[in-house]
Amino acid sequence: MKKELIGLTFDELKDELVQIGEKPFRAKQLWQWIYNKGETDFDKMSSLSKDFRTKLKENYTLTHPKIVTEQTSVDGTRKWLMEFQDGARVECVYIPETDRGAVCISTQVGCAQGCKFCHTGTQKCQRNLTAGEIVGQVMSARDSYGEWPTKTDENRLLSNVVVMGMGEPLYNFENLKKALSILNDGDGMAISKRKITVSTSGRADKIPELADIGVKLAISLHAPTDEIRNKIMPVNRKFPLAELVKACREYQKRCEHRHYITMEYVMLKGINDSLECAEKLIPLVKNLEVKFNLIPFHPWEGCPFECSSNNTMHKFSKFLEDRFIAAPIRRSRGEDIMAACGQLKSANKNKEKK
Ligand code: SAH
Ligand code: SF4
Repeated sequence: MKKELIGLTFDELKDELVQIGEKPFRAKQLWQWIYNKGETDFDKMSSLSKDFRTKLKENYTLTHPKIVTEQTSVDGTRKWLMEFQDGARVECVYIPETDRGAVCISTQVGCAQGCKFCHTGTQKCQRNLTAGEIVGQVMSARDSYGEWPTKTDENRLLSNVVVMGMGEPLYNFENLKKALSILNDGDGMAISKRKITVSTSGRADKIPELADIGVKLAISLHAPTDEIRNKIMPVNRKFPLAELVKACREYQKRCEHRHYITMEYVMLKGINDSLECAEKLIPLVKNLEVKFNLIPFHPWEGCPFECSSNNTMHKFSKFLEDRFIAAPIRRSRGEDIMAACGQLKSANKNKEKK
C-alpha cells in the first residue's frame, strides 16, 4: 500500500526520500508543494524532475479529507462534513470575521469526555485523528476557499485556527503536537502560533506543555465550584478546579509571550448562571490573566438544558466586567446550520454509511 505523506514532519519527510534513494535536500521543494501550494497531484509539481515525480507517485499519496457536504449559514459561517480514508467523518467549521477568520478543527471522531451539555459528548470516541487528518482539515478548508498558495501577508480569509471542534485535543496530544508544528511551519501553511488556540475541557497534566508549544489556551471552565462542575463535566472528577487553575498558572508562567487565557463559560439556565456563581469565579482566576467568553448554550435534540435569558447573561457579564474582568457574551454563529459550539456531531451519518 502507498504511504500517505501529509502528516509527516519535515524530518520524517526527509527520511522517506532517503528511503526511495533521493537526496534529502529535495524535501524542502516537496514540502512547499504540499503545504505552501496545496498541490495533491505529483504530476503537477513542475519544479521536480520527472524521475522524482514518478517515484513519488509509485510510493506515496497526498490526501486532503474529502468534503462530503458543505453548508453555508446566513451569517457566512461554513460547515463541512469531512471524511477520511477509513470512512470516519468529522465536522469542521469556518467562522469569518471582518478582517480575519478562524477554522475550527476536530481532533477525535466523537469524544469520550461526555460533558452533559455537549452534543459531541453524546457520541462515543471512535478514534483519535492522525496528525495528517488534523492538518488535512485546514487544507480542505483552504481548498474550499481557494486560498492557495499560502499568502505571504497576514491578510487571509483563513487566518486563525481554533482547536475547538469535536474531541478533547489533550487526549490526542502527540498527534496534536505534530499537527501544530506542521501548521506553524513558515515554508508551508505558515499559521503563526499566536493565531492558534487549543481548547481543553481540563486535562490539567498536559496544559503547561501548551506553553512550550507556544499556542494560545482556552479552558472550558463552565462552573465556579467542583460541586457544579462535577455534575456537568465528568473530567472534573479526575482534575478538579484547584489542579486546573494551578495548571493555568504554570502555563502562563512558562508562556514566552504571556498569552492571556480564554475562559469559556457556557450559560446554562439555573445551573451556573447566578450572580453568586459569578462572584465565586473571581477568586478562582486571581493571579491569572484571563478573558471570559460567555457562550449562550446551544440546544440540540434531547438535551437536558436551556440557555440563560438575555437579561441573566447581561447581568453576569456586567458583574465580571465591573470587576475588571473582560466577559463579553459571544455572538452565536452558524446556529441555523448546527455549526455553533457544542452542536457538532457526525456519528449517525457514519453509521448510515457503513
Ligand atoms: N473538547 C474541547 C474543545 C471542543 S468544545 C473542550 O471541551 O474545550 C468547544 C467549546 O464549546 C467548549 O468550550 C465547549 O464546552 C463548548 N460547548 C459544548 N457544548 C456546547 C453547547 N451545547 N452550547 C454552547 N457551547 C458548548
Ligand atoms: Fe468533549 Fe469538549 Fe464536548 Fe466536553 S465539551 S464532550 S470535552 S468536545
